[in-house]
Amino acid sequence: MVATKRKKPVRPFPRRRRAVVRRAQAEKVDALVVTRPEDVGYLCGFTGGDSYLVVGGAWACLITDGRYAEQAQRECGDVEFRVRSGALPAALGEVLKGRRVRRVGIQAEHVTVQLHKTLSERLAPKRIKPLTGLTARLREVKDPAEVRVIRRSIGVAEKAFRGLLAMGARQWVGLTERDLAGELEYRMRRGGADGPAFETIVAAGAHGSLPHYRPGATRIKAGSPVLIDWGAKVGGYCSDLTRVVFLGRIPPKLGTIHDVVRRAQAAGIAAARVGVACKTVDAAARKVIVESGYGERFVHSLGHGVGRQIHESPGLARTSKLRMKAGMVVTIEPGIYLPGIGGVRIEDDVLITRDGPRRLTSLPTGADAMVL
Ligand code: ZN
Ligand code: ZN
Repeated sequence: MVATKRKKPVRPFPRRRRAVVRRAQAEKVDALVVTRPEDVGYLCGFTGGDSYLVVGGAWACLITDGRYAEQAQRECGDVEFRVRSGALPAALGEVLKGRRVRRVGIQAEHVTVQLHKTLSERLAPKRIKPLTGLTARLREVKDPAEVRVIRRSIGVAEKAFRGLLAMGARQWVGLTERDLAGELEYRMRRGGADGPAFETIVAAGAHGSLPHYRPGATRIKAGSPVLIDWGAKVGGYCSDLTRVVFLGRIPPKLGTIHDVVRRAQAAGIAAARVGVACKTVDAAARKVIVESGYGERFVHSLGHGVGRQIHESPGLARTSKLRMKAGMVVTIEPGIYLPGIGGVRIEDDVLITRDGPRRLTSLPTGADAMVL
């Protein structure tokens, strides 16, 4: 095992670690083992895998393995790091040796039952305490540097989509849903994405009524609507958008629900203000759909936080107990789904500021703008 220490501080990680330690200490633990990769990246900048960050009062140590040693040195110069030769529990024991740590917090949302058990046995008499939401609540509010990366991620996703539209209807017809998803993901990568933020949804025709449809071998037909839900991952941050593209014509029924969804989205965005309850934002959009008679067909919540993970806190749902804060980036994505006919969802990413909601996405929301 090799222990190395470099001193140069790298913003904004020390501030984030201090915040998470304060939260952990409030839960009466002396150190927190961060295992979720998005949180490790958030707290020290490391972008590799299979690594764990241990955060204590005034210290932090990244436990990595030989494959990532060089990367860890390059990316996280302001924490100690330790290259483990064995499994995590043994390395963690070494890291904690000689430090005044009696209770160790672990991420209940991420640690397996097996790892919890092993850590409890191997680190005894230290106590292992599963904790929830420590980093999720911190990550709800993005700092300006994070917002800049999210904007880049959106830019890559939108440019790739515009390129797809520019291919024209003649090119689309005859492609399978999978072909189109692959084309969009390829364009995102060429545009600078590390990859798609999630599995791209391309749902042709009536498949649009399945909100989490997986693209298949169905071919795109002239005159048919195509629902596309996609996003890029850039610099560790996700974007998330949905549009329905119409090939040649807008079927009347879909035109009607498209207009309702568009108005619902505008109402949701307008309501997304600092201090407003997340469930109130959901209600503002839902009201438009309910009053149009499609309440039963809006089968999911209005939106979710987006950042290092595609779905993160806060959820804009009827059950949410949270309130909107400046710096949150959320999706606003109402939808109406008509089995056997198709579906419409319009999804944009919105930054909450003290001056009101700011749409970060720039694609038009009108159905006419999406006719090829
Ligand atoms: Zn989406
Ligand atoms: Zn979404």
